[in-house]
Amino acid sequence: MKIHNSKSSLESTLLPFKKNKNSIGFVPTMGALHKGHLSLVKKALKENDCVVVSVFINPTQFDNPADLEKYPRTLENDLILLNSISEKIIVFSPVASELYSQNISSKSYVFSGIEQEMEGKHRAGHFDGVGTVLNLLFKAVTPSKAYFGEKDFQQLLIVKELVKIERLPVNIIGCPIVREKNGLAMSSRNKRLSKEEFEKAALIYGVLMKVKEKFHNLSFENLNKLVEDEFKKSDFFTLEYFEIANSSTLKTDVVKLKNIKYRAFIACFIGGVRLIDNMALN
Ligand code: AMP
Repeated sequence: MKIHNSKSSLESTLLPFKKNKNSIGFVPTMGALHKGHLSLVKKALKENDCVVVSVFINPTQFDNPADLEKYPRTLENDLILLNSISEKIIVFSPVASELYSQNISSKSYVFSGIEQEMEGKHRAGHFDGVGTVLNLLFKAVTPSKAYFGEKDFQQLLIVKELVKIERLPVNIIGCPIVREKNGLAMSSRNKRLSKEEFEKAALIYGVLMKVKEKFHNLSFENLNKLVEDEFKKSDFFTLEYFEIANSSTLKTDVVKLKNIKYRAFIACFIGGVRLIDNMALN
C-alpha cells in the first residue's frame, strides 16, 4: 500500500491512471477508521480502477479547539485496516501546511442556505472549513467519484453544492449509515465513550426509530415533543437539537407537505462527546 504525505508524490502515483483514463475513487476521512468508513472504501474499490483514501484531521472545520485536540488519532491502525481490505489503496495523509500551503484558513461559502441549518447553526464556520478542505483535496486527488456517508447527511448535501460552486468534475456518491449492533451510528467519536455511555447511546437510534414509526400518525409538534420528553427522562444526555426537515433543502415545515421526503436529525452530548445521527422518515 502506498502512503503519500505530499501532493507532488500523490500526483506522480496518480499520473499513469489519469493517462490511461482510469477512474479514480476517493474517500476523504479524518482517520480513526471504523466499519462505516470501510463500507465507503469497499464501494469505491468496486466502482473504480484505483482508490485514494485521505486521512487528514482538518483544523479549519473545528469550532471548538478542545474537540480538535481530543479527536482520536490512530494512523497506524488505520493503515492496517485499509491494507487488510486491499493493498492497492492509495493513502494520502498530508500535514496541514502541505495541503493548505501557508494559509491555513477557510474560504467563505454560501451553499444555497443549507449551511445555515442545524450543524451550521451550532458549529460556527464548520461548513466553510469542510468546503475549503474538500476543495483542496479534490484538486489534489482529481477523483472521478467521491464517497460520503449519510451519517453526515447535511455534509453530503453541502458537498453536492460545493462541486457545483467550484465546478469540480466529480460525481458525489452518498452511502448508507453503518451502525453498531445496538443501533448507534458508527463514529470515530464513539471511541471516547465509556462502556456504559456506549450502551446508553443506543437511545439515539431508539428515538429515531420511534419517530419513524409514528411519523404518519403524529404532527411535527408532537413528534418533536416526543423526542424532547425521551431526552428529559435520561440523565446521561443533553439534546442539542432535534429537527424533522425536508431532505433536499433541510428546511423545516409547520405541517407535512405532500410529495416531500422528510428526515429526522439529531445532535446530542453524552458525557463530553457530541454525537449526531439522522434517519429517513418516509
Ligand atoms: P469522518 O472521518 O468522520 O470525517 O468521516 C469520513 C466519511 O465517512 C464521511 O463521509 C462520513 O459521513 C462517513 N462515515 C462516518 N461514519 C459513518 C457511518 N457510521 N456510516 C457510513 N458512513 C460513515
